[in-house]
Amino acid sequence: MIKFKAALSLILDSVEPIGDEDVKLTDAQGRVLAEDVYAKDNIPGFDNSAMDGFALKSSDTSWAAKNNPKVLAVIKDIRAGGIPKKILRHNQASRIMTGAMIPKGADCVVMVEQTRKIQSRPKELIEVYSKVSLGENIRRRAEDIKKGELIIPGGTKLNCAQIGILASLGIPKIMVARRPKIAILATGDELVGVCQKLPLGKVRSSNTYTLYSQVIKCGCIPKNLGLVKDNPIQLEKKILAGLDCDIILTSGGVSVGEYDLVKGILAKIGVKIKFWQVAMRPGKPLVFGKLKNTLIFGLPGNPVSGIISFEMFVRPAILALTGQKEDSKKEVEALLGQDVEKKRGFRYFLRAKTRWEKGGYCTTLSGRQGSAMLKPMSLANSLIILDEASGAVKKGTKVKVRLLD
Ligand code: AMP
Ligand code: MG
Repeated sequence: MIKFKAALSLILDSVEPIGDEDVKLTDAQGRVLAEDVYAKDNIPGFDNSAMDGFALKSSDTSWAAKNNPKVLAVIKDIRAGGIPKKILRHNQASRIMTGAMIPKGADCVVMVEQTRKIQSRPKELIEVYSKVSLGENIRRRAEDIKKGELIIPGGTKLNCAQIGILASLGIPKIMVARRPKIAILATGDELVGVCQKLPLGKVRSSNTYTLYSQVIKCGCIPKNLGLVKDNPIQLEKKILAGLDCDIILTSGGVSVGEYDLVKGILAKIGVKIKFWQVAMRPGKPLVFGKLKNTLIFGLPGNPVSGIISFEMFVRPAILALTGQKEDSKKEVEALLGQDVEKKRGFRYFLRAKTRWEKGGYCTTLSGRQGSAMLKPMSLANSLIILDEASGAVKKGTKVKVRLLD
C-alpha cells in the first residue's frame, strides 16, 4: 500500500505532454492555451469616448452648474469609427458617440444627460450643467491592455473574455493542447446497462456515466468501451481496445476478491504497474500503470470511490497532460461543524457541505460516508481532507477542504 502523495507523484512523473494543435477562435472555448500570448497592440488603440455626449475642454466648464450653465458651440459630430480632423478650441464642443475617437484639443466628455440643446444647426449651441473634470469619460489608449504585455499565459483554459482578447488582438487561430482521449470500461459480472431490465442481484453501471461526465468536464474526449464481465479473455480484449487513448479508466475488479482480475490482466498485456492500493478512504483499491504512452487507471468499483479517485488522481493527470496548473483556490481551511471518526494511517476524503459564514468557511458532512452511497456525494460541494497522521477530529477544529465545482 502506498501513501496518497507518493501515488500522486508516481502518476505525475508518468505524464508526458500531449502535444498541441491549431484551433480557430470559434473552437477555442475551454481549450488549454499551449503558448504564451503577448499583446501585439494596445487596447484601446486610441483615446475614445466612454459615453454618448460631447467632447470639450474641461477648463471651459470650471464654473458650470445647474443655475450657471456653460454655453458651447457644437462644431462637429464624431461617429464611432470616424477620424475627427478639426482641432477643438475654447467654447466649442463636438458631439461624440461611445467608442468614437476623442478630437485633438478636447480633454473630457460630458454625458448627454448633463447638457441641453438651446439652438439647432447650423449654429448649434448646447448648455452644460456641470463641471467636467480632465479625462472624464475618456477611455485612454492602452488602458486595458498594453502592447507587449503577457496577456494570457500558456496553460490557461480559455474563457469567453480571453477569446475576446485574442479576437481584439487580431489572432484568428491559436495553439492549444490536444484534447486527451479517455477510454472508459466498466467491469463486473453484476453490471447491466442503463436501458436494460434490472434482474435481481444486478446493478446498473452508474460508473460509466459518472466517469463519462467527469471526463467531459475536464475537456477530454470520452471513448466508451461499455461493460465487460469478470472474464479474463473479454477483459483483455476490451482493455486492448483502449490503447489508442491517452488514458484508460477501468472501473471495478481491482480489489482482493477472487474475481478482481484487472491488475493481473494489465500485468499480462505488459502494463508497467506503478502502484496498487492507496492508503486512502474511499479509494483504496486503485491500480495505476503505463503501457507505451497510455496511462491506465484501474479505479475501484464503488461509485463514490470512483468519483473521488478521478478527482484526486485522474484530474491532476489530465491537468499535467495538457499543461495546466491546479487552481490554488480549490483547497481552503474550514471550521468543522461536527465530530468526525477517523482511523490513523489513511487519508480521508469526506463528502461535505462547505459554506462561507461570518468571514470563514464552515463544513459539515453531507450524509453517511459509505463508498457506495451516491446521494451524500451528490449533495456535497466539497471534500474534507484529513491526512494520514490525523485521528478522530472534534467539532470546531480547522480542517482542509477541497471545493468541488
Ligand atoms: P469491485 O470494485 O468490482 O469489487 O466493486 C465494488 C462495488 O462497486 C460492488 O458493489 C459493485 O457492484 C460496485 N460497482 C462496480 N462497478 C460498478 C459500476 N460500473 N457501476 C456501479 N457500481 C459498480
Ligand atoms: Mg467487481
